[in-house]
Amino acid sequence: MTTRMTTRSDLERFTNAPPLPDIEQLSRWANEFFTELPSGESPHFVQPAVSHSVTEAITDISPSSGHAKVPLSFSVPHESGLHELAAPSRTEEPTASGTPYYFQHYANAEGLDAVPQASATHGLSGLIGDASSYGVRPESFGLPDNGELKTLAMPKTGLFGISSGSSFYFLEEAVGTGRDAAVQSLGSAHPPFDVQAVRRDFPILNEKVNGRPLVWLDNAATTQKPQIVIDRLSQFYRHENSNIHRAAHELAARSTDAYENARQIVARFINANSADEVVFVRGSTEAINLVAQSWGRANVGPGDEIIVSWLEHHANIVPWQQLCAEKGAVLRVIPVDETGQILLSEYRKLLNDKTKLVAFTQVSNALGTITPAQEIIELAHRVGAKVLLDGAQSISHIKVDVQALDCDWFVFSGHKIYGPTGIGILYGKPEVLEAMPPWQGGGNMIEDVTFEKTVYQPAPARFEAGTGNIADAVGLGAALEYVQKIGIDNIARYEHELLAYATELLSRIPGLRLIGTAREKTSVLSFVLKGLSTADIGTALNKEGIAVRSGHHCAQPILRRFGLESTVRPSLAFYNTYAEIDWLVTVVRKIQCGKIS
Ligand code: PMP
Repeated sequence: MTTRMTTRSDLERFTNAPPLPDIEQLSRWANEFFTELPSGESPHFVQPAVSHSVTEAITDISPSSGHAKVPLSFSVPHESGLHELAAPSRTEEPTASGTPYYFQHYANAEGLDAVPQASATHGLSGLIGDASSYGVRPESFGLPDNGELKTLAMPKTGLFGISSGSSFYFLEEAVGTGRDAAVQSLGSAHPPFDVQAVRRDFPILNEKVNGRPLVWLDNAATTQKPQIVIDRLSQFYRHENSNIHRAAHELAARSTDAYENARQIVARFINANSADEVVFVRGSTEAINLVAQSWGRANVGPGDEIIVSWLEHHANIVPWQQLCAEKGAVLRVIPVDETGQILLSEYRKLLNDKTKLVAFTQVSNALGTITPAQEIIELAHRVGAKVLLDGAQSISHIKVDVQALDCDWFVFSGHKIYGPTGIGILYGKPEVLEAMPPWQGGGNMIEDVTFEKTVYQPAPARFEAGTGNIADAVGLGAALEYVQKIGIDNIARYEHELLAYATELLSRIPGLRLIGTAREKTSVLSFVLKGLSTADIGTALNKEGIAVRSGHHCAQPILRRFGLESTVRPSLAFYNTYAEIDWLVTVVRKIQCGKIS
């Protein structure tokens, strides 16, 4: 088998090509751009467009795209060259009409540690999905021809070049999407993101669900935990556990140090000026309620106005509604456009000297919209309003700098950023926290108590009545250090690419409507599929090991804005892979054709 370099000029010819040329042209290009068959015969066509992966190329030539060719084998790279993993026994003959068929057993490739095990799979993309989960990268594929297997090898270098890393994507250095990405990737400066290495840090990703590898696409609901966080919790309970702040013994000192060190880590992570600006709470919900009950009750009165956006999670609506009802204040809502982005012009109209607070999300949990936070905050401050920024969905995806944002409060939950449940953060500007009365009373938050009078601690202790969630605060510190080590910018870049890839593939599915198409988006792909209930889609995806949320995502107003009661919501994290997206798309297509229900 010979291989040929793909040069920049080859690439430019690829990228300048119309997206769907006719089959003859496809064959011609395939002959040019893919390597010779072992027999020296011309290969069949492949889609010559720039693909992120073999899987995408295969999707392009698969029956659903109207090309009656079904791939029949694939190969994986190995030190000593390509090893073919054929599909030797099948229960059904591949048909030119494009009926999906089953691969039953995969040959074991010599020298490979792990190869896909025998299981029935529809089509090659399923097969590759399996291979991916075993950490092997398909590098070539074959097509059946008159009952014989013909191999079409992918070029080994250039655009589709293999890096020595363990990931298996052909465009792993891409910085844009699709064809643009391919061009840019040739000159890309940043190192590839090693998703397979990251995945090894998360033991739960090895779980099987219904006999299939778990594909965790429910990250907006909660994220999985790396071993380092699990170990930190265990270490705390083995060696440090004690109540904090109140004893002279060794373990009290250890646990207090660990807890206060976690507070420092949080402060650094969000660029707070001091750890005293960081209050440990149960999560975003509790943080918002704390501000509503403490600051809100003291500062909001009859006729005052509170502004939220249409994108808000119920956690950032209900506490303000309750406050407005109690105080006779008015809740105002910033509308969004058809893409799910906040309408700044409408927001400007809502602001006035009665506006006491603007509370909004940095990233929408239902649509993934990244809101123009900086501008919203600045405009609010101009009318003297305070601003609470809900970072539950932004914290794990984009860089947060509370000083640059200039928000008065910032809230997030540990479990959304690879940390434990039951721990979260309320950041507040020092002068704002200092002026807030305590919310709950009890131990830890007092300096002195008599029956006549209590003197409170300064912030943050003033807001941490009782025994807090010490171990999980420490676990959150470990999670943030882990994220910091990988680099939030690297994470954001990789997730952005993955989101663009998933958006493109999902939007090719006929009858699929993506909800939330703002230009600035992260991580969330909400959709509905014509003729199918979201609950049924969620259940069917689960049968294939894919975990997504289907429902209203605790954000009913924004879904109703789009005329819906629920959507299916895959949501991404940096441990998700292109192959998982391919598998999601394959399964959604199968569900659509009634092959899974
Ligand atoms: N705000 C947003 C935007 C969220 O996505 C969530 C959780 N889904 C919350 C607030 C509430 O977070 P928690 O349930 O962790 O308190």
